[in-house]
Amino acid sequence: MKPLGPIPPGFAARDGVLAIDGVAVTDLVERAGGTPLFVYSAGMMRSKVQQLRAAMPDRLAIHYAVKANPYDPVLRVFSELVDGFDIASGGELALVRAAGIDPARVSFAGPGKRDAELDAAICARVTLNLESEAEADRALAIGARAGLTPRLAIRVNPDFDLKGSGMKMGGGAKPFGVDAERVPALARRIIAAGAEWRGFHIFAGSQSLDSEAIADTQAQTLALAARLAEDSGAALPHCNLGGGFGIPYFPGDTPVDISRIGALLEERFAALPAVLADTAFCIELGRYLVGESGVYLARIVDRKISHGEVFLVTDGGLHHQLAASGNFGTVVRRNYPAAIATRFAAPVAEEASIVGCLCTPLDRLADKAGLPHAEPGDLVAIFCAGAYGASASPSAFLGQGPALEMLV
Ligand SMILES: *Cc1c(COP(=O)(O)O)cnc(C)c1O
Repeated sequence: MKPLGPIPPGFAARDGVLAIDGVAVTDLVERAGGTPLFVYSAGMMRSKVQQLRAAMPDRLAIHYAVKANPYDPVLRVFSELVDGFDIASGGELALVRAAGIDPARVSFAGPGKRDAELDAAICARVTLNLESEAEADRALAIGARAGLTPRLAIRVNPDFDLKGSGMKMGGGAKPFGVDAERVPALARRIIAAGAEWRGFHIFAGSQSLDSEAIADTQAQTLALAARLAEDSGAALPHCNLGGGFGIPYFPGDTPVDISRIGALLEERFAALPAVLADTAFCIELGRYLVGESGVYLARIVDRKISHGEVFLVTDGGLHHQLAASGNFGTVVRRNYPAAIATRFAAPVAEEASIVGCLCTPLDRLADKAGLPHAEPGDLVAIFCAGAYGASASPSAFLGQGPALEMLV
């Protein structure tokens, strides 16, 4: 038997059935009109942001990275919880605007911004985190043509990366950001061109559960920001310190210690060099804020035995949950937290694999897990489905189409 990842706190059984915010998932599926279904809990997002704010220095603003979950009702919940939004495309700009979010609270990072995306962002007063010198030139030209002062920050490719991080986004040759040593010259050029100078964006990695590594990276980020600001010869209005806070997905994973990270950051903020004395700081997080609040529900369609192994075949699969199938940036496939939602209180009775309905051996949501005996009609729950689920999976594959989504 292979272990399952840890079920996040806050989920309980109600008459033996998994409940989200006190409502049985069978009722939620009925309300939504069927399966497969993503359910996101606004209450869980709220308490996550509250805990994070309580642990972090008051001076640190919290931004939501839209790519983790761009579902409109989720964006509307975050619009009342966080200070800013980070987007990575013109499509995400349209989504945040449709959710009623003021574009002045939005910053836009990401390589390969097309002219039309730069134009839409500049006209909406979005801050651009510039990924290259050439992108800076295009942004300045588009601003001049539109008669607007673009709000420009530089995304720095730092000369370090976040240790223990699932996806390294800094250190060495990268398509992201401008290499640190070329940043001061670009900053001086942007300021001389009359743009609104917005500072630095320094993102060193994602999905780390190592609190000391996160704190170390923040310290290195502050030191780098100070050095680059000195060399740029201008005060630094704003500095985005990146993110990297992970969530436990797999057996043995433990949560990050946000009080420790917050206490160390508070100490660093108390000892900032003069060049950062008036700088506004933020972090940008996606999965940490929304990942654990989401559950993916699929219905068992068939129960099969092959060579003595039990397969629970569901109406869902990797076309909605690529990450849980182990095919979204993972090296070794391990089981996400999962359960038979309609037998949530029942004891383990057998070893079974939960698979999807796609005709590929990659489509496995739980491998050789210890589960209660389940039959067609039962619901399966995959936890930690709030981030990089619906929008990060190939829903058109095999003509399956998207899952339903619902906010409670
Ligand atoms: C993906 C990304 C994030 C969000 O990462 P999470 O792991 O979801 O917190 C934040 N900033 C940038 C620049 C990113 O590319």
